[in-house]
Amino acid sequence: MTRTAVLGAGALGLTVAYRLAQRGDQVTVVEREPLPGGLAAGFEIERGMWLDRFYHHLFASDRHAIELITELGLGDDLVWRRPLTVTLRDRKVHQLDSATSLLGFTPLPLTDRLRMGAWLAYLRALGNAERLEGQTAADWIRRRMGSRGYDVLWGPLLTGKFGALADRIALPWFWARVHDRTARLGYLRGGFQRLYDRLAERIVELGGEVRLGTEVSEIRVEPTGGMRVVTADGGFLAVDRVVSTLAIRLTCRLAPELPEDYRSRHDWGSAYGAHCLVLALDRPLTQSYWMNVNDPGYPFMALVEHTNYMDPAEYGGRHLVYLGNYRAMDDPLLRMPTAEVVAQFAPHLARINPAFSTDWVTDAWSFAAPFAQPIVTVDYRDHIPPFETPVRGLWVASMFQVYPHDRGQNYSIELAERLVALLSG
Ligand SMILES: Cc1cc2nc3c(=O)[nH]c(=O)nc-3n(C[C@H](O)[C@H](O)[C@H](O)COP(=O)(O)OP(=O)(O)OC[C@H]3O[C@@H](n4cnc5c(N)ncnc54)[C@H](O)[C@@H]3O)c2cc1C
Repeated sequence: MTRTAVLGAGALGLTVAYRLAQRGDQVTVVEREPLPGGLAAGFEIERGMWLDRFYHHLFASDRHAIELITELGLGDDLVWRRPLTVTLRDRKVHQLDSATSLLGFTPLPLTDRLRMGAWLAYLRALGNAERLEGQTAADWIRRRMGSRGYDVLWGPLLTGKFGALADRIALPWFWARVHDRTARLGYLRGGFQRLYDRLAERIVELGGEVRLGTEVSEIRVEPTGGMRVVTADGGFLAVDRVVSTLAIRLTCRLAPELPEDYRSRHDWGSAYGAHCLVLALDRPLTQSYWMNVNDPGYPFMALVEHTNYMDPAEYGGRHLVYLGNYRAMDDPLLRMPTAEVVAQFAPHLARINPAFSTDWVTDAWSFAAPFAQPIVTVDYRDHIPPFETPVRGLWVASMFQVYPHDRGQNYSIELAERLVALLSG
């Protein structure tokens, strides 16, 4: 029986462990946080009432995630709706979630809207992004859709997600965003935490172990063969194989035996952290589910009113709003006390809904996570490692290998399925 340690209990690690346990491997998942789910984990608003720490939904194209949810018996709770998606521009809210709504997007002249619509249709029709390789999204959008189209619509979105590196993002990444997204969105009633709890339960039922609250501090090759996973609590695990699902840069830090030429190629690139302020309000703030904040001067890039998608009754009548950001991992926002974030963000909510007052806020939480958004620059693809590393017994499967698609639960699950097929082959 192969003994496998899986590092990380996010979508990727749990799917790998579940599939290996189904095959009869002896699996141990080691996770730093006290609960499974990684970036898609939830928190309890009140006892038994869970919400994702960072806004999450599925697209209708997320086949691997939908299949796994169904296989685990949660398919009946996967809710599909077409919530309202808007863009805030020139102090006005514009619906922008279809070709027809693009035609009505008045911040751009009609000729620009038509031109943009045609190029978006072209990207949607392209089956893959091979011919787009080597170009940046910013250059291509400016050339094809015009610089006004870039400045008003896509530039603010790329800057919101990638900051100063927005101009260097690979065009295939942009293709995938346009290509994969659907207006119909799926949400797992009760939060995606349920999926990860269910996976963890199944792993245990199959004879595996999920060690939560246990940080991995080193991955070593045993002189006598096999691998050793050392944990920060002073313990260790002797196994035949390690699958690390952490950011590639973290795996490189933990595994001193990875050779120099591997590091120079794959211990590479930048990533942003994510930050979300979650507010519970006693009344609705907006009418939309998703709002891209494209006007300058706001301290958040997206406003996601979860309860304009799910019924507030599911949350004890609360109206739940996320204010989201991607930032450099040393940005002070990622460590700021919640009350301070609320004080900073509140005046901007009144710009969106002039009636807003902080009296509406009944609760607030803030969450931050490192290595939450790979920065997919034009040379990113050349630095993605294969699953197998030069250290015998050490495998990497990480959301940092997702390309050109935007990272998401579906693509971590897909990577997990591919790795397990390879290990079983
Ligand atoms: C703001 C935001 C919004 C998002 N929205 C969506 C969405 O709408 N739909 C969607 O599908 N996806 C969305 N995603 C992306 C989705 O959350 C991720 O793609 C997915 O959860 C990644 O899973 P993973 O297992 O690959 O990585 P992770 O979830 O990052 O898992 C890695 C795990 O490794 C653990 N770890 C790290 N270091 C150690 C260590 N030393 N020892 C032990 N454990 C360690 C971490 O705690 C973590 O649990 C969003 C992400 C963010 C940040």
